[in-house]
Amino acid sequence: MAETLSSKPAIPVGISACLMGEQVRYNGGHKRSRYCLEVLQECFAFEPFCPELEAGLGVPREPIRLVGAPGEPPRVVGTVDPSLDVTDRLREVGETFVARHRDLRGFILMKGSPSCGLERVKVYHDNGMPSHADSGLFVRVLRECFPELPLEEEARMNDAVLRENFITRVFAFDDWKRHVEEAAEFHALIQFHSRQKYLLMAHHVEAYRELGRYLGSEAHAQPLAKVKYRYLQRFMAALSRPATRKTHTNALMHVLGYLKRELESEVKQDLLQAVEEYRLGHVHLAVPVRLLNHYVKRHGSDYIRRQTYLDPHPYELGLRNTI
Ligand code: SF4
Repeated sequence: MAETLSSKPAIPVGISACLMGEQVRYNGGHKRSRYCLEVLQECFAFEPFCPELEAGLGVPREPIRLVGAPGEPPRVVGTVDPSLDVTDRLREVGETFVARHRDLRGFILMKGSPSCGLERVKVYHDNGMPSHADSGLFVRVLRECFPELPLEEEARMNDAVLRENFITRVFAFDDWKRHVEEAAEFHALIQFHSRQKYLLMAHHVEAYRELGRYLGSEAHAQPLAKVKYRYLQRFMAALSRPATRKTHTNALMHVLGYLKRELESEVKQDLLQAVEEYRLGHVHLAVPVRLLNHYVKRHGSDYIRRQTYLDPHPYELGLRNTI
């Protein structure tokens, strides 16, 4: 079931250019990410982008920062010369980027930047005192114009759960792009939902039920484009909630429930024990999943064998060996 890294086409993912080692920061430096360049580049085709460079601010340049009051969209102005207001220019650059890069499956961002920071970017009062925190302007545009796009900060990927969550979302979105986005039949969406069910259950059991009900009832009477849009927004938002040990255990038990009748009681006990050891935090998720995959391959129906939950990203990345 697992595929090697080289057997899959590289997935297009955007990245803040400074993380690729490009010397585009305000001071001419970079923030090269070893994890992105040495690990993720095996499966992602990175599209580096620097919104500030694209906006014509040059290198080196005067640093910029967010300024504004809580509850209103901050403006982006120079730290030395506050009359240098690049808000509109940066917004335009972001909108143009999105219009030209609808093929992306995710974007990896540089933390703390008034353009690329995902969250907790400092916003200042007009008097120069720190006020509150917000997202960078480029991120704000990505969220507005491409809300289903998985976003993550490179620094947050030091956290194993957030790292696994982001990469899971990228691969799920890639599945959507390749098999559902252009499909003219409702059936393609039903098949997608069918193979993503346990992954969805592990992340957000309410969304799993809600989307199942939606596809089984009112969706049939609506235009396909509208159904796809609504489904995708809810699906990607649901996956962005990281699965926990408890919700993974629930999904694992459901997979096991599919196999029970086919297995000898001794094997059943081994599988139950592996799930229980995972629930208690004694082993990583890879242990019960690997065992389950072994029996799913031999005894599982097509439905259970197709579940992306059992193989959501390349095994070689080892993402489930750390959660
Ligand atoms: S954080 Fe974003 S805007 Fe700043 S240098 Fe990196 S890519 Fe450019």
